[in-house]
Amino acid sequence: MVGSIRVAVVGLGVAGSYLVARLSRETKHEVHGFDMLPCPDSKCAWGGSKHELSRILKPFDMDFEEYILYEGRKLHVLFDGKGERTIPTVGLVTFDKNRVEEKLVQLAVEGGAKITRGRKVALEELSNFDVIVDASGVYRSILPRISDDIIFPNLEYRVEYDRQPPYDDFTVIPYPGLTGYTWFFPLGPRVAHVGGGDKLHRQKEYVEEFMLKHGGRKLKTIARPIRLLPFGRTQPVSIKKGDTHIVGVGEAIGTVFPLLGEGIIPSFQSAEILFECLSNGTLDKDVYTSRLKGKFFYFEPIYKAILAKWQGKWSPTRTLPSLLYAYLKSKRIEQRFGIKVRITDFLEIFRNT
Ligand SMILES: Cc1cc2nc3c(=O)[nH]c(=O)nc-3n(C[C@H](O)[C@H](O)[C@H](O)COP(=O)(O)OP(=O)(O)OC[C@H]3O[C@@H](n4cnc5c(N)ncnc54)[C@H](O)[C@@H]3O)c2cc1C
Repeated sequence: MVGSIRVAVVGLGVAGSYLVARLSRETKHEVHGFDMLPCPDSKCAWGGSKHELSRILKPFDMDFEEYILYEGRKLHVLFDGKGERTIPTVGLVTFDKNRVEEKLVQLAVEGGAKITRGRKVALEELSNFDVIVDASGVYRSILPRISDDIIFPNLEYRVEYDRQPPYDDFTVIPYPGLTGYTWFFPLGPRVAHVGGGDKLHRQKEYVEEFMLKHGGRKLKTIARPIRLLPFGRTQPVSIKKGDTHIVGVGEAIGTVFPLLGEGIIPSFQSAEILFECLSNGTLDKDVYTSRLKGKFFYFEPIYKAILAKWQGKWSPTRTLPSLLYAYLKSKRIEQRFGIKVRITDFLEIFRNT
């Protein structure tokens, strides 16, 4: 593969739409994007850091501020009967993710990409491409299945309130044993995403309990699972079939921060790395995976701490040594997370659940 190549991108969520837009605008590659949805319909709570999202969208001259729906001041973590922990935010916002994805696809079309929407695509149809990108998120439609995958169910409502909503800022309520949490993410003065995800599949119970307690009108129901198995454990990330390279990006290869289920920014970041690796027409899978490993250095220690918690083996002394390095490095990139990174918050959440 040298010079101009034919690239198929399956899935036009954040990772896929970013990739088709940059490849079509900045390279001579032939780019074809596919999505089974007729138009963007993001099943997500739309939360992320405005600082990192603004940086990510710079190559498109997009002003991220135009897409922001709500900017938080605090993230409240409510412990069932055990008080509250308040974490200051650093640019944590909700934004119109559908509009961002739509704009990226529009830019891709203007850049010469072909887009096919409204039907599911299978590997067999894509034999005339040099590179096939699996950007299909949790479905991982193109790459082989992952053994021992970890996928959690979620249920979310878009809720409208006639009066004051129950909370005035980002709020999460962790479940006992940290098997998941209920979230309340404001989308404006009287609208919010209220959802829950749970390893033990009790998300409906918890979310309905929240709705019963706080009221509000359900405008939309959103149910989609999420892959919590972190990058590093989601092999294979890339395979060869004859001369065709199949490579994954985004949630398909585990770009979700396991503590929060936060996947928008990491999925964009993985697409940014794949774009750089693909832009000259050659793809070195070792370079790609080692760059991803460097970017998501904090996934594995957090995931191990969560596993220990689920198995009832968590203790601060056991976890702290492996977390400390990740914590110190994460602290330096605090703006990427949208909240203050403080080890005390982390310990309190683990202690109180
Ligand atoms: C309920 C919920 C709430 C969430 N809230 C947040 C949040 O607030 N903040 C955050 O950072 N993350 C959140 N996440 C996670 C985040 O949404 C995802 O990790 C991220 O969007 C993944 O991006 P992606 O581009 O890899 O995949 P996706 O955005 O899932 O896109 C994959 C696309 O592939 C398409 N597709 C799949 N298979 C095929 C096929 N065979 N043919 C054609 N098209 C196909 C799908 O239609 C889809 O459009 C949430 C997830 C869920 C489920």
